[in-house]
Amino acid sequence: MSNEKTVTVIGAGLAGCEAAWQIAKRGVKVRLCEMKPEKYTPAHHSPKFSELVCSNSLRAAAVSNAIGLLKEEMRRADSLIMRAADATQVPAGGALAVDREKFSDYITKALTEHPNVEIVSGEVSSVDPDSITVIATGPLTSDPMAEYIEKELGCPGLHFFDAAAPIVDFASVNMDVAFFASRYDKGDADYINCPMDREQYDRFYTELVSAREAELKEFDKEEQGKKLTVFEGCMPIEVMARRGYDTMRYGPLKPVGITDPKTGREPYAVVQLRKENVEGTMYNIVGFQTHLTFPEQKRVFGLIPGLENATFLRYGVMHRNTYMNSPGFLAADYSTVANRKLFFAGQMTGVEGYVESAGSGLVAGINAAARALGEEGVILPRTTMLGAMAAYVSGGGVSKFTPMNANFGIVEPLPARVKGGKAAKNEALAARALSVIDEIFG
Ligand SMILES: Cc1cc2nc3c(=O)[nH]c(=O)nc-3n(C[C@H](O)[C@H](O)[C@H](O)COP(=O)(O)OP(=O)(O)OC[C@H]3O[C@@H](n4cnc5c(N)ncnc54)[C@H](O)[C@@H]3O)c2cc1C
Repeated sequence: MSNEKTVTVIGAGLAGCEAAWQIAKRGVKVRLCEMKPEKYTPAHHSPKFSELVCSNSLRAAAVSNAIGLLKEEMRRADSLIMRAADATQVPAGGALAVDREKFSDYITKALTEHPNVEIVSGEVSSVDPDSITVIATGPLTSDPMAEYIEKELGCPGLHFFDAAAPIVDFASVNMDVAFFASRYDKGDADYINCPMDREQYDRFYTELVSAREAELKEFDKEEQGKKLTVFEGCMPIEVMARRGYDTMRYGPLKPVGITDPKTGREPYAVVQLRKENVEGTMYNIVGFQTHLTFPEQKRVFGLIPGLENATFLRYGVMHRNTYMNSPGFLAADYSTVANRKLFFAGQMTGVEGYVESAGSGLVAGINAAARALGEEGVILPRTTMLGAMAAYVSGGGVSKFTPMNANFGIVEPLPARVKGGKAAKNEALAARALSVIDEIFG
C-alpha cells in the first residue's frame, strides 16, 4: 500500500475501529495497527477489536437523551459501532446493552474481511508525519506512545490518574434554596452557593464519611500508591472529610464571606458550584472530586440543600485516565492544528465513554479519508451532538479541560424557548440535530 493513499489508524478500540470503517467505506485503504494480542493494557483481555473494558451498556436509547441522540446521529452516518450494537443487543429496558463477545466479533469480522483494510499487529510508538494517521490508542495508551505524544508532538498536559468532580445540570438545581454570589461580593456573582445549617452539615458529614467507595481495579491500586502524594491537591472529598469534622469547612465548604440572602447571615457551611460551560447550562461541584460509587454520589450529594433533585450529567470519577489537553492542539475535525495530516480520536481527545469515543472516531475517520482523497472535510455544527463534542474537545469550556460525556449542555442552545419543560426542549434539540445530520449524510 502506498503512503499517500493509505491512512494508518493506531488502536483498534471503539474509536479506531469506527475511524477505520469510515475511511475504508470511502474507498481509501486503511492500515489498522493494534498491539493486542502481543501486548495488553491493564484493562484489556480479549484479542478482539472494540473490547468493552467494563460495562456492556451503551447507555440510554431514547433520542431525547443526549447519548441516545448521539447514537442515532451515528446510525444515520452509517457507524460500524452502531451496526454492531444494534445487531448484538440484549434486553436492557430503556438502554442499549450488547452481548460484548458478539459485539467485538461483529466489528472484528467487518474490518478483517474488508478489502480496504490491512490489519497490522504490534505496538506503535511513533508516526510518520508525512502520512495521514489517526492515533486512537485510548485512555490506557501504552507508555512509549504516550511519551511520543507528549515529547515529540508537544501535546500539553497528558494527565494520569485524574479525579473529577461531578457535573450537574443547572436546570435541576433548586434555586429557591441555592443562590448566586461571590465570596465577599468580589467580582461577578459567578458561583452557585448551596448553604447548610449545622444540622444539615452534620447529616451530610455523617453520610459522607461512611458512604461506599467504588472498587479500585487491581492495576489502579498499584499505581495509585505512587500517585496519592501528587493527588493531595485534588483529594477526594470523602477522604478530606475523614480527616476531621471541620476539615471541609476550612476547605471547599468554607462559608466565610458568603451571606445567604434569605437569612442575611453566613451559613454554617457552603457548597459552591462553578460554571462548566459558557452558556451556564452545566455546573461542577467545586472540590467534590470523589471515588464514591455513582448511586452513593446521587444519595449523599443529594443531601446538599439545592441539589435534592440534581441531574448528574457526569459523576465524579477517579481512575487512571490519559487524555490530552486538546483545546488549541486539536481542530474541530480532530486533526492537529500543527499537522493537518495527523488526527486523534477516542477517549484520549477528551470525550468520555464508549459511544462518545466511537463518535469522535467517526468524525476523525471521515476527515482523514477526505484528506487522503484531496476533498473538503466535514466540520459538523454544534447543533449536532457529534459537532458539539468536537467543538468541546477543540475549544474547551471555561474551566480546566476534563473529559466530557455527551450532554445537551454543550449543544448550541435553541433560538427560542420551548414550552413543555426539559423533555420538550430535548426533543426539539434532537429533532434539529437529526435534520442537520440527514442533510449532511442523507
Ligand atoms: C478501566 C476503564 C473502564 C471504563 N469503563 C467504561 C464503561 O463502563 N462505559 C463507558 O462508556 N466507558 C468506559 N470507559 C471509558 C472509555 O469509554 C473506554 O475506555 C473506551 O474504550 C475508549 O475508547 P477508545 O477507542 O478511545 O480506547 P480503547 O477502546 O481503549 O482502544 C484503544 C486500543 O488501542 C490499543 N493500543 C494502546 N496503545 C497502543 C499502541 N501504542 N500501539 C497499538 N495499539 C495500542 C489498545 O490495545 C486498545 O485496543 C472506561 C475506561 C477505563 C480505562
